Amino acid sequence: MNNLTQVIAAVSTPPGKGGVAIIRMSGEGAFEIAERVFFPISGKNFSECKPRTQIYGHIIEDGERIDDVLATRFPGPHSYTGEDTVEIGCHGGILVTRCVLEALFRQGAVPATAGEFTRRAFINGRLTLTEAEAISDLLEAKSREQIRLSGDTARARLSSAIAKIRADLVRLMSSVYARIDYPDEDLGDFSDEELLSNIYNIKEELQNLIKTYRTGRAISEGVKTVICGKPNAGKSTLYNLLCGEDAAIVTDIPGTTRDVLERNLPLGRIMLKLSDTAGIRENENMDTVERIGVEKSRKMIEKSELLFAIFDISRPFDEEDELIIKAISEIDAPKIALLNKCDLEAVFDESKLSGFDAVIKISAKEGEAKTLDALASLVNGMFTDERIVIGQDAVISCARQHAALTRALDFLSAAAEAMELGFSQDAASSDIERALGAISELDGRAVSEEIVGDIFVRFCVGK
Ligand code: GDP
Repeated sequence: MNNLTQVIAAVSTPPGKGGVAIIRMSGEGAFEIAERVFFPISGKNFSECKPRTQIYGHIIEDGERIDDVLATRFPGPHSYTGEDTVEIGCHGGILVTRCVLEALFRQGAVPATAGEFTRRAFINGRLTLTEAEAISDLLEAKSREQIRLSGDTARARLSSAIAKIRADLVRLMSSVYARIDYPDEDLGDFSDEELLSNIYNIKEELQNLIKTYRTGRAISEGVKTVICGKPNAGKSTLYNLLCGEDAAIVTDIPGTTRDVLERNLPLGRIMLKLSDTAGIRENENMDTVERIGVEKSRKMIEKSELLFAIFDISRPFDEEDELIIKAISEIDAPKIALLNKCDLEAVFDESKLSGFDAVIKISAKEGEAKTLDALASLVNGMFTDERIVIGQDAVISCARQHAALTRALDFLSAAAEAMELGFSQDAASSDIERALGAISELDGRAVSEEIVGDIFVRFCVGK
């Protein structure tokens, strides 16, 4: 990261050739740097041009015209970063973009590091850390639901829910401390019952937000899902159906899928981090590659959060099916038995199935739409709360937010317990203060440099 006194510049559009490219520059002195290379055709100095308005002009260096551009200046603090910011829209050729950017560097700007514009916005109080996280997720979004989850309405809802919890905690703290620190002042009564009921209310707000994590995480990060089943049960056919293309090789030769394929794909509202695995078999005829594939499958199953166990109902239940059931029996993830090939005559004994959270009949090959609908509604019911309206409700979606809220809740529970046991308000106050500390970490008011660095490194250069 650069020093905050430096003016940073970078291309904000993706690398490569395009119709236009946007170069962004931010920091005190950005307008002066721009002025030395950008000359509006109006003949005015750039700094005198109307702010937040595109100005047409030329980039000229050493008397040589490099490009015709549109430049906009955003005076701080009302800019993305909170600093004086310039955006230059130039022609999107790779070389011309580089020439414009290098002209800015020669006038004193320095290359921005990944996420540095947004990091400055955070440092300058333009964004909370949770808002920065949502912007990072928006850039990575692969489904409409993910866009809704990290869009500006959702960001604002989450920020205001956190701000409300924070304000409630501050109010509570000041009521308690005022009476502890100034016992002789007539500050009115603040009974233990009142304190306890306030703690309960804030605990409920925290619990409500924490509860949204399961849904938020399933949408944003996705659910690690493994398809397992004996060879030829239809794993690859199902995998391809979920992917919407022929991503895995489908053959009727057992053991064809030897490696573990992994893909992120939307199913209903949520994202599946889906692995198609080799069949789990035990057979002396397996070659080394297949053996490694089977071993990998076992490892993936152990780490899974959702298991699709697929059975071929056109064949009798056998010890290979039994092996699958045994392999997943100890796994603490929801398990769905998919009775595949229901378009064929069934000879499979369903009563042998045990330990499944749901059993459904599908035809991965013939009944594509029905299979997808059935799986989407089943899995979404398991991993999301349908009452939550994504984009409208405050929802948390990352582990850091969940951990900070859980810490705040634990501290408040300790404060409530102290009061319930009849200790003084003084005894509860330090835990209330710790809860406030956890919330400050959440919105970034008091957070370590390491965590901040970890969040912004996920951004691209130019954001
Ligand atoms: P895997 O070894 O478990 O990955 O099985 P595949 O997906 O490669 O499928 C094995 C064979 O079963 C292929 O010939 C598929 O076309 C066929 N198959 C898969 N699903 C169905 C289904 O629902 N109905 C029918 N009739 N055949 C299926």
